[in-house]
Amino acid sequence: MCADNDILGKILGAIERLDAKHEKLAAQVEALSHAPSPSSSTSPLGAAFFPRPSSSTRNLAGGGIDSSVPPSPVMNGTDTIPCAPAPSYSNGTISPISSPRQGGGIEALRASRGSFSQTAASGASTPYGNLSLAGAVAGGGGPGPNSPRKEEDAKKGLYPSRVVLTTYPSQAGINPIPIKWGASSVLERGPVVCSRIKSNLPIRNSIGAHSGSYSIYRALSIAMGQLRPDWRPDLTNTHPPFVLPPRPGWFGDGTGRGEAGNQSNWRIVSFDPWGAMTQEVWAKEYAEGLDVRPTISQTKAHIKIEELDKLARQGEFPVDGDIVIRSPELAAFPGVDQGVEVNTYKAAIDPVWFLPGVAERLGIEESTLRRALFEDTGGMYPELLTRPDIKVFLPPIGGMTVYIVGDPAKLSDPNTEVTCRPHDSCSGSDVFGSDICTCRPYLIFGIAEAIKCAQRGGVGVIIYFQKEGRALGEVTKYMVYNRRKRGGDSAAEYFNNTAMVAGVKDARHQALMPDVLHFLGITHITNLISMSNLKYDAIIASGITVKNRYEIPEELIPADSRVEIDAKIQSGYFSKKQMTEDILKQTKGRGWEDIVH
Ligand SMILES: [Zn+2]
Repeated sequence: MCADNDILGKILGAIERLDAKHEKLAAQVEALSHAPSPSSSTSPLGAAFFPRPSSSTRNLAGGGIDSSVPPSPVMNGTDTIPCAPAPSYSNGTISPISSPRQGGGIEALRASRGSFSQTAASGASTPYGNLSLAGAVAGGGGPGPNSPRKEEDAKKGLYPSRVVLTTYPSQAGINPIPIKWGASSVLERGPVVCSRIKSNLPIRNSIGAHSGSYSIYRALSIAMGQLRPDWRPDLTNTHPPFVLPPRPGWFGDGTGRGEAGNQSNWRIVSFDPWGAMTQEVWAKEYAEGLDVRPTISQTKAHIKIEELDKLARQGEFPVDGDIVIRSPELAAFPGVDQGVEVNTYKAAIDPVWFLPGVAERLGIEESTLRRALFEDTGGMYPELLTRPDIKVFLPPIGGMTVYIVGDPAKLSDPNTEVTCRPHDSCSGSDVFGSDICTCRPYLIFGIAEAIKCAQRGGVGVIIYFQKEGRALGEVTKYMVYNRRKRGGDSAAEYFNNTAMVAGVKDARHQALMPDVLHFLGITHITNLISMSNLKYDAIIASGITVKNRYEIPEELIPADSRVEIDAKIQSGYFSKKQMTEDILKQTKGRGWEDIVH
């Protein structure tokens, strides 16, 4: 590890020297750009990589942005939030946070936080212009969200002329808002700020970008001039219609025992449990220009699935008018039964990784995690290496969606019957009905059990993780399908086929999965609708107890997916079925020809 750190140090030094050269060069170019110069035609590639002394090439989007677009409005205070004030967990008791908060604001935040309270260096001396907080507050750090974008700014191009390749902890003006992950209140924890708009860059305390993989599409919209780079969402009326209040798992090691408990064994490390309360908690700071955004959003909806209609008609669960309601008649088909709909609460969660916690959970060094994330995303986030002081990373991956049937407030009561299906996405089966695996039937079974549990007075929870093809992706998944079908698809070779293509048989890293259960306050699962030993082991290891485990009922298993199920049972998946090497060898899937025809 020591040798690794030496090498890392040398690399960091080299990067720093390179960046210094780049800054010097950029400053020279900037000086040149102020002198009148004829428009020079440079390659678009050159323009994208390096600022040129020509106003035409600095417009990355060609025509720049439509400056007639009004700046994004900002919500005023929190008075209009109709939902109950969110409770805050402190010193072992649930108490409401002051909502709307008294005081607050960026200056108060600055004054209350250690190193952050030191006056930032004057922007004039930094190579990046005015990076000071004072400048940010005064709007001196670039086009702020509350000020109309000046016409001359728009003419200059989408971004400042100098490219900030990376930043360093000791750099003049750099002064990130401290984050205390697992702290006993959200105010003490601090806001998650990953914005690179000029006024927020120096105080940014997170690497990456919002919206997971969709950050890339956002970049395209900006590049095409359809979106201002400094656009911030209008958060009016976007707050949750129901409250998922803070639970012990949100704090430190989950015991809520204060400082010692906040040092390690974090229960939630892969997203921000406070992510849905941003509109409420940081309203004033947001209005003042702090680019702190929600990373969770909650809403209410109906689930309507054909199989559930059938189950309701079969009398599997009654139409109670509360959890299960009758679908309205269609005008075109008077008197025809349109089946049922299920009332749910749901939450979409974007990934926000607390790197020391993720490393601890995976049993690796934080430096190893950072290096791998940098190298194996094509060097996408240099600050993973140059900013060891920044501990939070918003990775460009999918998150998850939680569906709750029944009263979410009852989830943290250990006496509540909880039925839970943690489901990893499988578009081919879940949506398009492929019968090579059991994903959709198992998901429907989970939803049906969630409904029945809620009707018994419990709560049903379905968690849908964006982890397509065991988090290896669909391209890999279909290659494995081809390999299976061409190789006589046997259960004995099922995992080996994946391992031969992907190098690993699974990349879902279930150790991070239970975070969402702790977010919901679940301490005991009565009915776990999953056969996966990996999920079960992760849940147990995280301190949650499980009473019953349910395998997919035999009658729901499509014939062709027998290969998958038998291979999984042999590998340790929960089942009452006795699996032997002989059975495994005999379990064969459909041949290639059967699929073609
Ligand atoms: Zn599947």
